[in-house]
Amino acid sequence: MTKDYYDVLGVTRDATSEQIKKAYRRLAMKYHPDVADTADAADKFKEIGEAYEVLHDANKRAMYDRGVDPLASGGFPGGAQGFGFPGGGAAGFDFTNLVDAMFGQAGARGPRSRVRRGQDALVRLSLTLAEAAFGITKPVRVETAVICGTCNGSGAKDGAEPVTCSTCHGQGDITQIQRSFLGDIRTTQPCPVCRGFGTTIPNPCGECSGEGRVRSQRTINVKIPAGVNAGNRIHLEHQGEVGPGGGPAGDLYVELSVEPHETFKRNGDDLEMVIKLPMTAAALGTEVTLPTLEAERDDLDAELSTVRLTIPSGTQSGSRIPIAGRGVPRLRGAGRGDLGVTLLVQTPGRLDDHQRNLLRQLAEARGEAGAEIAVEKQHKGVFGWLKDAFTQ
Ligand SMILES: [Zn+2]
Ligand SMILES: [Zn+2]
Repeated sequence: MTKDYYDVLGVTRDATSEQIKKAYRRLAMKYHPDVADTADAADKFKEIGEAYEVLHDANKRAMYDRGVDPLASGGFPGGAQGFGFPGGGAAGFDFTNLVDAMFGQAGARGPRSRVRRGQDALVRLSLTLAEAAFGITKPVRVETAVICGTCNGSGAKDGAEPVTCSTCHGQGDITQIQRSFLGDIRTTQPCPVCRGFGTTIPNPCGECSGEGRVRSQRTINVKIPAGVNAGNRIHLEHQGEVGPGGGPAGDLYVELSVEPHETFKRNGDDLEMVIKLPMTAAALGTEVTLPTLEAERDDLDAELSTVRLTIPSGTQSGSRIPIAGRGVPRLRGAGRGDLGVTLLVQTPGRLDDHQRNLLRQLAEARGEAGAEIAVEKQHKGVFGWLKDAFTQ
């Protein structure tokens, strides 16, 4: 016998494969050349690797227990003192592969975790214009994967632990060497039995079929800040899909849309509305009371539900009067946009004789009877936005 492999790993002869793996990890971390700077660390590290190579493999371990050193039997002189490390992997022992497997280095070989972060989820939420402008807390129905309550995410029935895969011996992948005229070709593939996890669940949880998660609906209250607009997304951390193996949940995004309003149209932080005004009122000037979007708020401040607007005499049809600070609250920063009021002057129709006479007198007094018509150049300025705003 060259060396006591059990001694090297510091485990008893009846140690489980899990105990052997743990002991190897602990020692390999300690003596890894990247972290250990003692002179004999490299030799010690090789020794640990050999011991693990033999003991973690059920076949080689059985051979060793019968008194045969599986490493020495690979064409190297057995029985000699100070058994040497077989450098080129000629004995079928791929040291690099083993180190990669344990440290997850280049090539990313080795068992992958059953537990992974879940994906982000997206739900859509439709708001009224007032809800978007002034903010609201709304219940939202969400369906995502959640931790399986039966197995608490482990995927195993009745609290059982996953067991080391007997096909890949916990490595998660299987390496095959094919001899060809070009030399040895080594291929490494995820173990088909355990799907690369290195462990299998003999009795999967019946509720989640071993996935550790199940789909479930729930209602969450989403706080919508004032001033949001269509297309904005509310980001809620860890409210998305729970990952495979009960892994941490991804995030949830609530994408907002805004229903059109019959009176108000939003333009950036401004609200726009259109009112009709009799020709006489436009000519003489007047004061009007207008409804506001705030009238739709639940927490209504009665004073805000209407707004007074002074229309100066001689107001032209199509002109816009801004009311400062009565638009949409700014999502970032303080203050609010304007409420823009555009006036459409109504020309009176169906005149009686008296009214017709009055208008004729007015026309004569203003020198407008038979006046020449001035042709305006086409201009979009006055009616342009109206057309854009109200044709959809
Ligand atoms: Zn389960
Ligand atoms: Zn396997």
